[in-house]
Amino acid sequence: MRKISAHLILDGLGNCYSKGIVTLDSDGTILSIEDTGGVLRESAEVEFFSGMLIPGFVNAHCHLELSHMYHTFPEAAGFVPFLKKVVETRASEPECIAVAAEKADILMYKNGIVAVGDIANGPTAFEAKKNSCIHYFTFLETLGFNPERSGKAFDWAENCLKQAESMGLKGSIVPHAPYSVSIQLFNAVASEAMRSGLPLSIHSQESLDEDDLYRTGSGEMVIHLRDNLGIDPSFFNPTSESALRSTLKLLPTKNNLLLVHNVYTTQSDLDYIASVRELSDTWFVLCPGSNLYIQNQLPDIDLFRRNRLQICLGTDSLASNHQLSILEEMKIIQHACPSITLDELLGWATIHGAKALEINDWAGSIEVGKRPGINLLTNVDLSERKLFPGTRVKKIC
Ligand SMILES: [Zn+2]
Repeated sequence: MRKISAHLILDGLGNCYSKGIVTLDSDGTILSIEDTGGVLRESAEVEFFSGMLIPGFVNAHCHLELSHMYHTFPEAAGFVPFLKKVVETRASEPECIAVAAEKADILMYKNGIVAVGDIANGPTAFEAKKNSCIHYFTFLETLGFNPERSGKAFDWAENCLKQAESMGLKGSIVPHAPYSVSIQLFNAVASEAMRSGLPLSIHSQESLDEDDLYRTGSGEMVIHLRDNLGIDPSFFNPTSESALRSTLKLLPTKNNLLLVHNVYTTQSDLDYIASVRELSDTWFVLCPGSNLYIQNQLPDIDLFRRNRLQICLGTDSLASNHQLSILEEMKIIQHACPSITLDELLGWATIHGAKALEINDWAGSIEVGKRPGINLLTNVDLSERKLFPGTRVKKIC
């Protein structure tokens, strides 16, 4: 048993305890939370930390298997040039990918991340995830814009998922993005999702190029498909509508859905999303560090706040970020939206991700009976409850 305290404890649900005491079992399960009213009597059995205690972070979007591409790409080169670079450089020796994945996993652990929604296109990072202290939910991603490839693409994902499950990893089969998945492949993913009931994820509105593709069948994405992927897009019939409007309806409405990136999402898009699915099952994953790295652009974060949507945070991969740290993502958002409170931001970084990945029975908040992991924030503004640029995170348990 362990009793810990700090200047402030934020539980992830909007409650704050001044010098409260959290009692933990040997496996990290929370046995009690004591509100001392700010008056903490010195006691040999209480460990007091200077700073703020918070729940373990949930990273709702990562690609562990791209960790070997760290700092390979120039910053702010644009989205389609980034895709081209990924296609050119993602193939590497499996051992090299596995070693980089292992290192990245350890970094996330040290950065206080307890759970990750991790995209996989193959099995190269499975071993790292199996051996990790972090909980991984693997989104086995299907890729295949040519309808003729849909059977093969789905079979590949299904086989990979079986392999992951045989290693004790949980996951689901998901579509990569509107510009890389045919209607036939969307339909296959949807039938499997209806059977499994598990969470789904899709890269959504990360660029405007996907809209050009769907609206008119032209633009940079078509050139990418043709020149970089060798796909003759003549089979594709443009829909005169955005990529979101053309494809969101292909996904089942009962599964949790993580819409990842949302860089170009507008109020009209949000109204559309609300018209086709329950917002309570819809999670908007923001990866601001990656968006800045790839295209020096952030989503309209206040738009999501005004609409009271369920926001989560993701790091994306080391191919498009300087680190895998949810705290650093929080700093970027606080800088972009100075009015945001730490309580609100912390909810995005913890309990929302846990709910989206359906692990909120043990993760995401400091509550009795949960085993969420505890992080200590140091060099943090305790009176204004804000992060400083130099705020650090340390994993306590
Ligand atoms: Zn991604």
